[in-house]
Amino acid sequence: MRAEIIAVGTELLLGQIVNTNAQYIAQGCAGIGLNVYYQTVVGDNRERIGEAFRLAASRADVVIVTGGLGPTQDDLTKDALSELLGLPMSIHGPSMDKIVSVFQSRGLEMVQSNERQANVLEGCTPLDNDNGLAVGVALSKDGTHYVLLPGPPKEMKPMFDSRAIPWIRSVMGDDAAPLYSKMLKFAGIGESSLEHRLIDLIEGQDDPTIAPYAKEGEVSIRLTTRAGSIELAERKLAETESEIRSRVGEYIYADQDVPIEQEIVAMLGRAGKTAALAESCTGGMISEMITAIPGSSAVYRGGIVCYTNDAKRELLGVPADVLEGDGAPGAVSAETAALLAERVLERTASDYALSVTGVAGPAESEGKPVGLVYIGVAERGRPPEAVRLQLSGNRGSIRLKAAKQAFYLLWLRLKER
Ligand code: ATP
Repeated sequence: MRAEIIAVGTELLLGQIVNTNAQYIAQGCAGIGLNVYYQTVVGDNRERIGEAFRLAASRADVVIVTGGLGPTQDDLTKDALSELLGLPMSIHGPSMDKIVSVFQSRGLEMVQSNERQANVLEGCTPLDNDNGLAVGVALSKDGTHYVLLPGPPKEMKPMFDSRAIPWIRSVMGDDAAPLYSKMLKFAGIGESSLEHRLIDLIEGQDDPTIAPYAKEGEVSIRLTTRAGSIELAERKLAETESEIRSRVGEYIYADQDVPIEQEIVAMLGRAGKTAALAESCTGGMISEMITAIPGSSAVYRGGIVCYTNDAKRELLGVPADVLEGDGAPGAVSAETAALLAERVLERTASDYALSVTGVAGPAESEGKPVGLVYIGVAERGRPPEAVRLQLSGNRGSIRLKAAKQAFYLLWLRLKER
């Protein structure tokens, strides 16, 4: 079955509030296997609300509306639907009683407009509002199912979960098969290269669907299937996952939505090993990412932010003739990266150490281009290594990509064990 979500409110069109209700409703629809094909936002204008309803009814089986159920003259959702469907409105007794008693208990005078919140359309199923005064509406007419929910999220969410979803399930009947998803997280491979290696699967996808996502420095694939039971869903997802693993399995660091640093902390913990950091262009960002993971204190010994050449020399003993002078490799170099990692490994007596030195921009440095980054990796009992990267993007994204790449290099080492 196809659904459309309509959010009513001029505030939404003006950008004064964010349409979080649509996100919540869309997630709820996915949970019961209801496909949302369109989301619409329309202002508090009766004609345009009616137009949005007409269009939604022409292309969806279930139309879910949020907003515009309040008492004021610009709350027009029920009026617009009543007009479109030719169904008169009447007062829902229990909702009216509730409104009257709330006004009495607060000692407030009730004006006639407050009664509007108790309006329902003829033949509908009223949806009780446990957190407010406006009653919701569910009704089926001419093959389309309509659900009207209030705008305030604290009223909308409970009404959607406990009243609307059961009603929608009942009209969906056997179509109410939920969607199941699984996330595969990748490191060390870019989105386009991943897509290239899976292109025939992605293009020929049907069930499960395969959706690649890219965030700064991170690539994920979400597999989604519709199934009548969790066992069946797991079987379908496992088949597709194994095909993906046979092609690009070496880049998968997790089969759930976790950041790579979380996986690193877990791997270090399982191995009983510790790590340390020497950060230049990332300025402590990697340290922050690691320490944001609960349990990192057991595996992370600490880091040094050695931003200037003086700091690299004084805090970690990188020789001056490596950092500066004619023919010197410079601060942004494989030599410096390797030395930083080696020295911080020694100073902190850790099992592994990473270092990052690079040009985050916006201007070049030492005559080296923006985005040039070296990552040093040191491991007890092995000579240090450095990897050269040429990253793209602005300062923020170069720093974040460098951090994620550093984690990836450590992940490779830990995987070797
Ligand atoms: P009220 O009785 O408060 O008038 P209502 O059902 O008429 O409720 P609106 O007037 O459309 O709802 O919205 C009331 C408030 O609810 C908005 O000011 C906003 O804070 C919140 N709200 C409305 N729609 C949304 C939405 N789509 N996403 C998030 N918040 C919303």
